[in-house]
Amino acid sequence: MTTPSRYKPTIGLEVHAELFTHTKMFCACKNNPDEKRPNVNICPVCMAHPGTLPVINREAVKHVLKVGTAVGGTLADFTEFDRKNYFYPDIPKGYQISQYQYPLVSGGALAGVLLTRIHLEEDTARSSHERGEGTLVDFNRAGVPLMELVTEPVVRNAEEAGMFARELQLLLRTLGVSEANMEKGEMRVEANISISSTEQFGTKVEVKNLNSFRSVERAIAYEIERQTKLLDRGEAVMQETRGWDETKGTTFSQRKKESAHDYRYFPDPDLPKLLLSEIPELAREVLQNEMPELPWEKRTRLVDVYGVKEETARMLTERGELSSFFEHTAQMIHDKQGYTLAENYVTSDLVGLAQGGDILGKITPDNFAALIKMILESKISSRGAKEILSMLYKDGGEPEKIAQEKNLIQQSDEGTLTILAKKVVEENPDVVAEYRSGKESVLQFLVGQGMKLSRGGANPELLKNAIIQAIAE
Ligand code: ADP
Ligand code: ZN
Ligand code: MG
Repeated sequence: MTTPSRYKPTIGLEVHAELFTHTKMFCACKNNPDEKRPNVNICPVCMAHPGTLPVINREAVKHVLKVGTAVGGTLADFTEFDRKNYFYPDIPKGYQISQYQYPLVSGGALAGVLLTRIHLEEDTARSSHERGEGTLVDFNRAGVPLMELVTEPVVRNAEEAGMFARELQLLLRTLGVSEANMEKGEMRVEANISISSTEQFGTKVEVKNLNSFRSVERAIAYEIERQTKLLDRGEAVMQETRGWDETKGTTFSQRKKESAHDYRYFPDPDLPKLLLSEIPELAREVLQNEMPELPWEKRTRLVDVYGVKEETARMLTERGELSSFFEHTAQMIHDKQGYTLAENYVTSDLVGLAQGGDILGKITPDNFAALIKMILESKISSRGAKEILSMLYKDGGEPEKIAQEKNLIQQSDEGTLTILAKKVVEENPDVVAEYRSGKESVLQFLVGQGMKLSRGGANPELLKNAIIQAIAE
């Protein structure tokens, strides 16, 4: 995908996320993204009736400040809301309440990408053109709190953009501020893309309608290629907004980009300015104390404490149910080698058993830990362990019991193994002679004979010792 090119791509991302709050941004209507009936959660405020007064949603402000704290941004002291004026059927006031000069958060970084700002605004209504009777507008979404995060133009390729968007989704979920499901439009990514062969930035193109991580990556890769071809032909890149056609895998021109002054931003006279230092519950220390373990902190801890691989830590962190399963198990194992066994069984065997579905099946941390302990104590072979694991996955149960029932307990009894070893020595005098004359590699053959005699039931390590013993006698 990355063919060497004389142009350096530059990407900046703008991400919108609908926030989890009880009520909308400026009114008392329910914020319920799952409401299917149109125009149920509406009132004169979010319907833009004249003479109504908006009231700032404190919960939404707090959500954005939490994100700002997590990414190490500067939380505003003074902040205000502005009117962004434009006309569209889904914006009945004729303006959107947003933030312009004084965003809630400035700076910070996420996944190595520097952030410009994070601000708070309101979502628009939802238009639908489906029924062929003109455009229908559903105002349930009008006035839902919307966070906008803008990055600096520092992302270098499609992959980094995808990583960033995934990390942001994970952060928003971890903080409990947004479900951030891209397919549902709860998180929407716009990518600004330019290429240049000099130190100066090239003309940027903004791509909208990206509603999956994959389309973010594909659209950026496509756009870099399209712009490269234009410049190669001696043509210029036009500054414009383009859409993404998922089926064709191409971007298409939508409109020339409007600039900030077209919106004639000005402070909303209906809303108070906020002096955050005067709101104790929004103080940085308070937010910091309420902060859950952040994804990057969790990954580091999983690597440090359990010695899991970087990619395992990533997988566990992305899937809360899996990491809590793993950690519960680990607490019962208390053994580095056991952690690694547990890691391997989770990342290879369980992933295999799940085939894209439920990864834990009927396994509980208790019986998973019991299984790992049996392996550590050589009570079962790794083949036996796999067999038990797949039974645990399907039906649950106690590994010890299953091992007994299925005859998977390895023979570790000293007396039994001594008898077995003597038999092997008796039956293979020639090989034993070879061993005695210094050819130690034949030992493996003798162990193999013993395993056969025990029909795979012997603990190979102990059997080996018993055979060495028997030969020496
Ligand atoms: P606009 O005023 O056109 O909205 P902004 O300066 O607000 O532009 O930037 C919007 C987004 O575009 C930001 O994410 C920023 O990082 C990104 N951006 C700015 N210039 C470029 C560029 N030359 N190439 C790629 N992205 C850019
Ligand atoms: Zn309302
Ligand atoms: Mg902008």
